[in-house]
Amino acid sequence: MICIPIIANTMDDVLRDMAEASQFADIIELRLDYLKNPDLRRILERRTKPVIVTNRPVREGGKFEGSEEERGALLKLAIQLQADFVDVEHDSIQHIRRDTVHRVPAKIIVSYHNFRETPGNLTDTYQKLRQCGADIVKIVTHANDITDNVKIYRLLQASQTPLISFCMGEYGIVSRILYKKFGSYLTFASLRKGKESAPGQISIHELLNIYQAQKQDKHTAIYGLIGNPISHSISPFIHNTLFKEMNLNCAYVPFKVDNVGDFIGEFRGLDVKGYSVTIPHKESVINHLDAIDPMSEKIGAVNTIINKDGKLAGYNTDCKAAIQVLEDIHQVSEMGMKNAHLKNKRVTLLGAGGAARAIAFGLQECGAQVTVASRNYERAQSLARDAGCLSQELKDLPKIETDILINATPVGMFPAVNETPVDKKLLKPGMIVFDTIYNPVETRLLREARVQGCKIVGGLPMFVNQAAAQFELWTGLKPSLELIREIAYKKLAGE
Ligand code: NAP
Repeated sequence: MICIPIIANTMDDVLRDMAEASQFADIIELRLDYLKNPDLRRILERRTKPVIVTNRPVREGGKFEGSEEERGALLKLAIQLQADFVDVEHDSIQHIRRDTVHRVPAKIIVSYHNFRETPGNLTDTYQKLRQCGADIVKIVTHANDITDNVKIYRLLQASQTPLISFCMGEYGIVSRILYKKFGSYLTFASLRKGKESAPGQISIHELLNIYQAQKQDKHTAIYGLIGNPISHSISPFIHNTLFKEMNLNCAYVPFKVDNVGDFIGEFRGLDVKGYSVTIPHKESVINHLDAIDPMSEKIGAVNTIINKDGKLAGYNTDCKAAIQVLEDIHQVSEMGMKNAHLKNKRVTLLGAGGAARAIAFGLQECGAQVTVASRNYERAQSLARDAGCLSQELKDLPKIETDILINATPVGMFPAVNETPVDKKLLKPGMIVFDTIYNPVETRLLREARVQGCKIVGGLPMFVNQAAAQFELWTGLKPSLELIREIAYKKLAGE
């Protein structure tokens, strides 16, 4: 079930938001601590969905500043008025005497909130809450690391009493989205952006329309993106829309990961079926996989992981995706001259990270003459050695003869859209300029290259190709490139 909290200050606003929230939510949470002079009877009479009455004190992350007697009196009134659920904090339950209310239908939620961390001893907390007269136990903690979600998952899997449990904060978003898979009695979603009652709460629109939360169940196959930062990523929109269009019971979620080894180890227990991997984990993740395909091993970077019966295998779809883009720009492949145009072409590749590695190896296979130039010259030399190509220092860029210039650094990427990795004087008419950045769709580098008469291509076609290949590796199904392009454009245009 999905619960929308109502955090309004006036009766009019509460009644309006409650009516709106009732269209989407299974349950409404009435946060009395936000409301001045509540008329509880009137609110409950007007409800069309079950209501949880909550009156959170400041010490538990709420706004109620009156005395404990006043706070308790409102909760007791809610029980007498037959609210469907009443949330009582673990340290106040002894003041709300169940024996005076046991003939009324209100279910008592006994809650514990920890805004600092997700402690290791949650089973003890759960047992204590269960024993103090809870119909439903609620344990909500703050995630300081993605692996904190696994503590909540284990707690939920072992619980016997109905339990509401998830992690707050950006690291905890997955526990909110995957609440059915985790086994939580319900999850919370805000009515709209700006109406969140706790950190990390996503909107009902996102939960229903992007993550298809109501269609998920215990059997939903989990996929996700490992990276940091990840909040800007459009991959959840792409893959979840594809799952929806193809009627697959799958959900794709963002995993904000600091330590990739810890993450992979802990999440093996959740049987995640596949991952995308992005900055900064494409290279370091390899040490934590069970298998790696030969080309990805050569490249030394993985952007796709498949879970084959519990064994994690790494692949790289960036390489083919980028080469396909360069082929398409010449439209050579349809004439049966695959890669012919890349043979002997002088390519200057900016950057020596995961994407640059994938592109350098792909181009070497096509017979191109690649020169890697990067701000960290040692890293450029190391890539050049591995791929069998040349390297140069960035300051020597003007000396390099170039047919195709490729930017595989994040310079010019949103939000630093006014930056560019090369001086426009180096851009010559007829040169091909390929910027792997896809946000913005046209970078400053590409704008300047267009003005200089270069042939330009942005990062979006590569992104579309790599996402399609990734989806096919996971599901065995070929998605529509046109659909992926459409979703990506819409999302990048802020629709
Ligand atoms: P990465 O592994 O972190 O590598 C980034 C590279 O850029 C490194 O060589 C780094 O140099 C260099 N760099 C970073 N900041 C720089 C700066 N301010 N000035 C000069 N060089 C800088 O990242 P990645 O995964 O390879 O991604 C690189 C770019 O490719 C990103 O813009 C990403 O969006 C894009 N990409 C696009 C697609 C697509 O499908 N379109 C797919 C993958 C990647 P140091 O070694 O000195 O840090």
